Amino acid sequence: MFLVNVNRLVCGAFQSTRRLHVIRTVQEMRNIHKEIIKSSSLGFIPTMGALHSGHIMLMDRAKKENEYVAASIFVNPTQFSAGEDLDKYPRQFEADCARLQEAKVDFVFAPTREEMYKNNALCHVEPFAFKSIMEGKARPEFFRGVATIVCKLFNIVDPTKSYFGQKDISQCILIRKMVEDLNMKVSVVVCETMREPDGLALSSRNAYLSELERKQSCILYKALEAGKNACRRGELTDRNHIVKAVEDVLQTCSFVNRIEYISVASHTHMIEVDTVTLETGAVLSAAIRLGNVRLIDNLLIGNAEADILN
Ligand code: AMP
Repeated sequence: MFLVNVNRLVCGAFQSTRRLHVIRTVQEMRNIHKEIIKSSSLGFIPTMGALHSGHIMLMDRAKKENEYVAASIFVNPTQFSAGEDLDKYPRQFEADCARLQEAKVDFVFAPTREEMYKNNALCHVEPFAFKSIMEGKARPEFFRGVATIVCKLFNIVDPTKSYFGQKDISQCILIRKMVEDLNMKVSVVVCETMREPDGLALSSRNAYLSELERKQSCILYKALEAGKNACRRGELTDRNHIVKAVEDVLQTCSFVNRIEYISVASHTHMIEVDTVTLETGAVLSAAIRLGNVRLIDNLLIGNAEADILN
């Protein structure tokens, strides 16, 4: 097996092999910083594993911009709601490590649940304003879970830059705001969503789709495109007009069991807006149930694209 345990790692050995090193504890990660990374730049990609090409695109970007790259694989229990099955989330650690090795990632931080959450924890990060946004209403406690785990990971991994996918746009906006509000040193880089040729955004959850559902699943992207196309340069577009354009397309597909939400929000705070111009920009996002599978996706309207992606 190509993986190397960092307990046996010395600086010279790392430099000569440059293989993927699996780190299991906070202390090991701190040792790596002290002995190997030192003042070099470190790019970091937090993930829940079940890696696909969308994740690897983030690793490739980090590789180009940093001397070292670390990913984390941790299925974070605090961001799953009661109805969501945490235990069923796809786990494939060996295969993930093979992909990371291929992508020339240097470190993977893969702690146990016990390593990350002690029983006597008193503090968490509460992004209170996010409780009232669409994704926050649909999944109570989700954003507290995300903000807290990312804050903890930033403190442990201490990266120079951290990379996130536009696919989870509210998470990107939240993390940018957390970094600003709490004066964190890390730079947040947001990369465009990677899609299948038919438009479906790559996601670990796509594995749950049946063959028939998979064929229909690009409906979400098509619907969002229709909403985005409802906005024209120099015009003020009413949110209801955009929402209706999205709904009209979704309703053509009998596989769509439920529309959880369609959101037209500001790209700075994810607060719903009544009107959109291409000059101010906005985020158009939606969550649907296709069969039993929850799909989310979003498109950036107008100048939001230039403001969000870097
Ligand atoms: P996850 O493992 O689902 O928590 O995702 C880890 C990171 O990969 C997050 O920043 C996601 O936004 C990003 N990501 C997931 N899917 C995609 C995709 N299709 N394109 C780009 N980034 C993605």
